[in-house]
Amino acid sequence: MESESMKEYEFTCPACGQQIEINGPMRTAILSNGCPICSTSVSDDSFAPA
Ligand SMILES: [Zn+2]
Repeated sequence: MESESMKEYEFTCPACGQQIEINGPMRTAILSNGCPICSTSVSDDSFAPA
């Protein structure tokens, strides 16, 4: 079973370089909480359409 729900955006952390394919709610959570890997605060610039 395939799902496209995790591929709305690609997040690239400016601090640790981690790239993660994410969906809209995850984007909101990362903007609020920072990078899930290193907790660095990130801005809208760190997200690109997947
Ligand atoms: Zn990071």
